[in-house]
Amino acid sequence: MIFVLKKRIKLMTVKPESAVHHHRPGAREWGGRLPVALVFLEEKSLALSTLGWQAVYRQLDKEEGFYLERFFWNRKEKNVVSAGFGTELSRFPLICFSLNFEGDFLNLIRTLHANSLPAYASRREGWPALMAGGPITFINPFPVLPCLDFIYVGESENGFTQTARKIKNLWLSGAEKRKALEDIAGFPGIHIPGSIEKTSRQIYSAPGRILEKPACSAFVSHQTVFRDSFLVEVNRGCHYGCRFCVAGFVYRPRRMARLDDLKDLIIENRPGKVGLMGTALTDWKDLREFLEWLKERKIKFSLSSIRADGLNEDFLKFLRSSGIRSLTLAVEGISPDLRKAVNKRFDEQNFFEVVKSISALRFNSLKLYFILGLPGEDEHDFQELEVFLERLQQTRLEGMRGRRKGIEVVRISASMFVPKPWTPLQWAAMDTQEGLERKSRAFRVLCADYKGLKFSAESAFQARIQGLLSRGDERVFDLLLLAEKAGGKWKKALTEWSGDISDYLDRTRPLDEKFPWDRLDIGVNKDYLRREWDRYWRKLSTTVCPDLDCPECGRCGMEELPVGRGI
Ligand code: SF4
Repeated sequence: MIFVLKKRIKLMTVKPESAVHHHRPGAREWGGRLPVALVFLEEKSLALSTLGWQAVYRQLDKEEGFYLERFFWNRKEKNVVSAGFGTELSRFPLICFSLNFEGDFLNLIRTLHANSLPAYASRREGWPALMAGGPITFINPFPVLPCLDFIYVGESENGFTQTARKIKNLWLSGAEKRKALEDIAGFPGIHIPGSIEKTSRQIYSAPGRILEKPACSAFVSHQTVFRDSFLVEVNRGCHYGCRFCVAGFVYRPRRMARLDDLKDLIIENRPGKVGLMGTALTDWKDLREFLEWLKERKIKFSLSSIRADGLNEDFLKFLRSSGIRSLTLAVEGISPDLRKAVNKRFDEQNFFEVVKSISALRFNSLKLYFILGLPGEDEHDFQELEVFLERLQQTRLEGMRGRRKGIEVVRISASMFVPKPWTPLQWAAMDTQEGLERKSRAFRVLCADYKGLKFSAESAFQARIQGLLSRGDERVFDLLLLAEKAGGKWKKALTEWSGDISDYLDRTRPLDEKFPWDRLDIGVNKDYLRREWDRYWRKLSTTVCPDLDCPECGRCGMEELPVGRGI
């Protein structure tokens, strides 16, 4: 069951004919509005746990002259399905895809195929116009650019509505798609395939790095990752700069919502449960006050990301008494050297103190994230991991203080290192499939010695496919077409593809190599990333983003990129 926040969103009411006089035959059936399909290429449960596209929904829903319908991926149908009136996707003149992960690329191709839309934009003369937005557009959209008419690079609050209005007026006035693309070509954040101009990321921020209107749920549902939760954005971006993490660079500078604005959102929407979204939430100075405020109002809460160094016995007791039963912490590198190399701030002494408290307070489960396959990882790192796991188990038992119960299960989750654009490790070679599988086995064996430690790891093969899509270029589009034809069987598609996956994955890139994503300007400059790549190998840490406005700091290049308060 989906609860629509009617008070804020007037859904499914047929609005009166808009003020815009239209000359487009057929516009009458849409009430003189531009029909827009908002497409999320993953299942509804994930869509409703993602705020980006819901922010776009809110922005357009507030506007006159748009008819919005949401589409979510349906695994059985291998197609997206309307969550509204079941209108066929191809009937929408403007189709907006939300691209959040590389995994969306194949579902995008499948969606075009299932709706008889030619894969190459160059073979679609007239409407619909197919565009994409979302984080992938300011990381590396180039593997799927051949099927798109344009992309919006950046945060939708800062300019997307302007573009949508322009397209609406042109479509309603009967203009051809080509004309619309010509007219929006210079708009903020708009990248038209083939354009040689660099497109700058659109950043939404008020002075002082404030998120004036933090994103929040437009739809609340029982069928989401954050069940029945009204999601609110506490911050955007991260100030730590871990060298493997793309979010630490493509969302710079870090911005914070104001406590009073978040309280107003809760008062306005009166949710029973709130999901706090953001990075390193335990760094937020108002976190405890906000959670106490929610608790006083008997509003349950969950936290999307916490850090061990932000936890202590008192705060853990508060979380436990507030109904939190499981915690997730990121360890990342499997050894102190690797954690230093990736610039991960990780105080082992404090971490084990926290584990002891978590055990003593009998949280049901603790999930620990590790990364396997980081450049330079060797036998010595695995010896360090062995020591770490031994101490983890000891600490867990100590926390139980002779009682039968403590943390029932510690879930060890290993992901494979995938070099990502716009990070200092974008020049790195990826580990081989055999290497990653061998390391996974070794990690599993180490965990098997300890009762209550449950190990799981990503597929090495799938991680390498992600690695190819993550640093791919337009040549990878052909591989996506082959994979779609092969029913998602990547091995078969790779045998038919003219490209060489090894060229993308198995070599350390020279520092002067031109990347497809160099056609974007996300703010962080390449020299800064090169310095950080060098510091990776010298295991030197870099201090967190200072609490300054970028122009005053000027360390990573962000000072060059304008920020906007939205339109
Ligand atoms: S310029 Fe300075 S404050 Fe701004 S994002 Fe870069 S490091 Fe952080």
